[in-house]
Parts: sequence; C-alpha cells; structure tokens
Amino acid sequence: MTLHPGHPADTAADIADFANEFVALRRKLHSQPELAYKEEKTSALVATYLQSWGYEVTRNIGGTGVVGTLHNGIGGRSVGIRADMDALPIIEATGLDYASTTAGVMHACGHDGHTAILLAAARHLSETRDFSGTFHAIFQPAEEGGGGARSMIRDGLFERFPVDAVFGLHNWPGVPAGQFGFLTGPAMASVDLAIIRIVGKGGHGAKPHQTVDPVIASASLVLALQTIVSRNLDPLETAVITVGTINGGVAANVIPESVELKITVRTFNERVREQIKGRIIALADLHAQSYGATAQVRYPRGYPVLVNHADETEFARQVALRHFGEGRVEADFRQITASEDFAFMLQERPGSYLFVGNGDSADLHSPRYDFNDAILPDAARYWVALVRDFLSANDTTLTIPSRVEAKQDD
Ligand code: ZN
Repeated sequence: MTLHPGHPADTAADIADFANEFVALRRKLHSQPELAYKEEKTSALVATYLQSWGYEVTRNIGGTGVVGTLHNGIGGRSVGIRADMDALPIIEATGLDYASTTAGVMHACGHDGHTAILLAAARHLSETRDFSGTFHAIFQPAEEGGGGARSMIRDGLFERFPVDAVFGLHNWPGVPAGQFGFLTGPAMASVDLAIIRIVGKGGHGAKPHQTVDPVIASASLVLALQTIVSRNLDPLETAVITVGTINGGVAANVIPESVELKITVRTFNERVREQIKGRIIALADLHAQSYGATAQVRYPRGYPVLVNHADETEFARQVALRHFGEGRVEADFRQITASEDFAFMLQERPGSYLFVGNGDSADLHSPRYDFNDAILPDAARYWVALVRDFLSANDTTLTIPSRVEAKQDD
C-alpha cells in the first residue's frame, strides 16, 4: 500500500510487510557465522539478493566485500551506507534454535543484524525508487580486528563508488530497543596493542640471587603502567590502559627466562595516543633495566579514533527526529571506549556512525549475546529515510529538504 511516495508512514507499512523475511534472513546468517575475510557464504548471499533487486553488484572488494549500487532519477548526489558481515571466534552459549552451527564461531556483535537491516533497506529502496541520485550499499568484511574497512578503501572503494557521505550503525546493548544515539566528534576510541617481553635470566626458584627475575620486573611494570593515565595525562583527557594477559613460567620452583604482557590501549585523540605509546615504551625499558632485565616492545597499531563529522551527524540526528520523533533519540549518548574500523571510512569521507539500542540483551562479544530482531524494521526504515533525505538535500547544504519538513505538518 502506497500512501504518498516519500512519506515515512508508507515506508513503515512497506517494510512491515516483509520484515519477517529479513528476521528469518538474520537468523539464517546467525546460524552460519563466518570469521573475518572468510565471509564467503554471507557475501554470496548478499550479492544474490542485491542482484535480484536490480542493483549493480561488485564483489571481492578488499577481500569478500560487496557493493550494491542503485541509481535513480537525475540527482547528482550519492550516499554510502555500510554494514559489517563478520563474526567472532566465540563459542556460542545462547541455546537459541538458530544458534551457530559452526563450532567456535559466533555472531556475537550483531553484524548479522547490521547486514539484514541494510538488505531490508536496499530492497525497499529498489522497490519504491522514490529517490533521486546514487545509493551504494557497502557490505564490508573483517570489522573484528581485520580492518576490512581499510582493505576496501585500499581496494579503491571511494574512487570506484564515490560518495558525498558515508554512514554506518551499530546495535547497542543496554540502550532501550530502537532508541537512536548520535555523537559528534570523537565517538569511539582508538585501539592499539602493546606486547612487552621482559627478558631476564631463568634459574632455580630457590636461588633467586643467581637469576634475573622477569616476574618481579613485570609485576612492577603493571602497577607503573597505571600511573600513565593518572599522572601523565591531562586529567580532562580520557584513556584506558588494560594489561589483559601476563604469561611466563611453568612451575613454582622455576624462575622463568621471560614474561610477556599484552596490553590494550584506548584513546580519544591522536596526541594522547602518541603520548601513551611513548610512556609505555619508556616505562617498560626503565623498569626492566632497574631489575637488570631488558624489555622488547612491539606496538602494532589498531584502529584510529572514530571521529564523526559535525554536519553529517547533525543531519543523521535530524533524520531520526523527523521520522521517529524526539522520544526516540537518546538525549545524552556517551562516548564509547570500544573501537570500530568505520573510523577509516570517516578519515576518507564525511559521515557519521550512529547507534541503535539493542535493549536489555547480553553485552556485545558475550557468548550469550543476540541481536534484537525487534529493532530491525525501524533501523531499516531509518536507512531508507536517511538515503531519501540525503539525496534530496541540495549540494551545498545538508539541510533536510522542505518536502520532508512539510510532512511534519500533515
Ligand atoms: Zn561490532
């Protein structure tokens, strides 16, 4: 049933008509999760659907990435919406009847949901075609540590599929189901991994004076690392330094040769990121030295700070306000110390990463987590509304067109 093309009400009606199919699809994806860069079945499924709806489909971008492109009308603007497709190496403990059938692999971050949401929106946009411009549906591999967004960019994503802006979303447990969250500026943290090996001189546990004990040096270092945030950073900055693993030794009566620490570092700006790196390396060296040991530090870079662009974020927020009302937009959505490789896309093009409440579910990356299917229809409606409104805005402003504003009054 079509009331008025472009009216949110008919969007809602149409997506409701086929939402169950996409809930079923989401559960199918959940049952067959695939790890980073191995999203073969998932990407094939995505490509098949997009093709069947008339999209131009390009596969194998940055690995298993897929882009579906739909042109309509004469509009010169273009917008990209990104969903991630990969799962995690987690043993599922949900007991759901559509639980993972692949041992040790699980959709524990809701990327099955993100993929299904974008597919539902893509289908609706292809059926209604009530937009003017170009829509790119971007399905990326390997968000979970593999930098799939960066791989797609290096494979020419934005040269081959130019966009005026790019948007993405993540479901968010702990926020009421279907509530939208927006943040301007640094929204999600950078993540780096420090791997420190403290090398001493092993020996008999009863003769410590003949050894250089790397356990003692490591213990001292763990405590010292916690002074970086409390003593070195500007108190108004935010950062996290977590020593997640300490490994060394095999027996109580043996002093080991070495101990290895793995540390995750989260920050909200590049200056702090560099400052912490410098301090970790210095403390590791000096602590090891003070106990007669040496430190070997590796510091592989992870994802950068995710910085949402102001204009696009305000635009995205306005879309939610106009189509769903003020009550559906979280007033005070806070910065997140988790990381997200959509940050790479936002370094290349303007855009915004937003959040949709997943309700009272288990947390992301928990073996008991599940994506909340109840939020799928509205999240798809949101993408449809954003694509229409973005492509209708004129070239020099992101103001939502008066066509949509007028609808507010009817
Ligand atoms: Zn995720």
